[in-house]
Amino acid sequence: MSFFAPALAQATTIAETSELLYMGSALLFILGIKRLSKVKTARSGNWLASLGMLVALATTLTIVWGEVGIAILLAGLVVGTAVGLYLAVRVPLTAMPELVAFFNGMGGAASMFVALSQISYFGSELEDGTATMAEGIPTDALMGGSHFAIAIVVSILIGGITLSGSLVAYGKLTGKVKGSRLGPIGGQVVNAFLALFALFLCWYGGFVAETPGMILAVQLTLTLVALVLGLGLVLPIGGADMPVVISLLNSYSGLAACATGFVLQNNLLIVAGSLVGAAGLILTNIMCKAMNRSLVNVIFAKFGEEAEKGDDGYTGVKQTSAEEVAMLLESARSLIVVPGYGLAVAQAQHKVRELCNLMQERGCEVRYGIHPVAGRMPGHMNVLLAEADVPYEQLFELDRINGDFKNTDVVIVVGANDVCNPVANTDPQSPIAGMPVLNVWDAQTCVVIKRSLSPGYAGIKNPLFEADNTLMFFGDAKKALEDLVTETKEL
Ligand code: NDP
Repeated sequence: MSFFAPALAQATTIAETSELLYMGSALLFILGIKRLSKVKTARSGNWLASLGMLVALATTLTIVWGEVGIAILLAGLVVGTAVGLYLAVRVPLTAMPELVAFFNGMGGAASMFVALSQISYFGSELEDGTATMAEGIPTDALMGGSHFAIAIVVSILIGGITLSGSLVAYGKLTGKVKGSRLGPIGGQVVNAFLALFALFLCWYGGFVAETPGMILAVQLTLTLVALVLGLGLVLPIGGADMPVVISLLNSYSGLAACATGFVLQNNLLIVAGSLVGAAGLILTNIMCKAMNRSLVNVIFAKFGEEAEKGDDGYTGVKQTSAEEVAMLLESARSLIVVPGYGLAVAQAQHKVRELCNLMQERGCEVRYGIHPVAGRMPGHMNVLLAEADVPYEQLFELDRINGDFKNTDVVIVVGANDVCNPVANTDPQSPIAGMPVLNVWDAQTCVVIKRSLSPGYAGIKNPLFEADNTLMFFGDAKKALEDLVTETKEL
């Protein structure tokens, strides 16, 4: 950062100063993301990235102050802050994927509208012959063949797909959108036709169109085609795969913002958009790997919809109680807790910590086995357990703990299902075939806390529940753990 002080002092124009400040905020974003990759430094990473955003916002507001007017800026700030605060406070962690989907959609919309708005510069120049685009670029730069024209059509295409695709993803996750078609929209042939037509329009708008009328017609048609294509691409994808799709759309929203950065000649938007685009792609890849699926399989396999049928024909299930599990724990020397989506739903992280503290006080070795896609978003369990102040050293990723289950006295599975389903290893026809899973069945005794024998996200039967060494402790995870803590204290 010391590089910036002298450089800032020498910057003479507003443009130079703002470029330096933008570079500073881009650096803050990069440092912030780097620190987010480790739990210990994640909090400071978040602060650094927020500071970067503050610098970016303040710089942009200073630049556009005169042009836009204080009333509009203040209105935007007040509404944006109020909505942001409301969502941060009210939206539960379990609803994060749909919130991210909504945010992606808004990012796509912003890119699309900014790109569409550029045509107004063209029109006004024709009227009075003076208007120019932002940063003094002549408006004939909007004509086909210029890099502006290309960036504009790319912004509209990716922004439009991201907007409508994200809204479908939001609707699917909240249960408001069902089914895989909307008339012909969603069919693969229709999608292929729309994709080809969109590419044609991009070529025409980016390289050929010259008059304002032609450019406007192409841009408006492209907007419509991109919006319908976004619907068609996401509608057929199964509900279970929505988190992966959201991560992909997150990447798209970054690419759209990056293209808009070229339209506005804004270096920070180009850098920040690229960061989001790359981060979204990396995350998509990590999620696909953790589920042993290819991206093509996610997009075309309708995983969630087929899987929802499930199979609940269980035999020989052994039910247990808080008292019985407490007795089991009394003699346990090693305990591994495997948290899953149900822990998040029940908000049982504090109770789990309380039980583990008790066990540690009694000299039992306590660890947590964390699956990379447990819950509904990457890192879901890490966030919940960190909130309950579980020491990070006790969290073990799948690869590090899988070999240790066989030496463990008791495993308590709290609201997890798919991530410890042995069929992933045994049934090549299963929708989760090949997905790495936690080998909880290797432990001496495995206690599963959940409310019923209902399937998890993949919608399939879990033979773990009828294994000889498995005890089913039915109930809401928080209540069950509360009872278990009470019983354990009484022993
Ligand atoms: P699952 O969805 O497989 O199972 C969760 C279980 O929690 C359910 O069987 C449910 O059973 C139980 N449950 C729900 N509410 C409660 C409650 N209040 N108290 C106790 N139990 C409860 O979760 P997993 O974490 O094991 O697996 C995650 C799944 O999500 C995987 O299939 C993964 O591929 C998928 N996924 C995850 C992503 C990620 O990034 N994390 C992304 C994409 C997909 P019952 O109703 O009987 O209580």
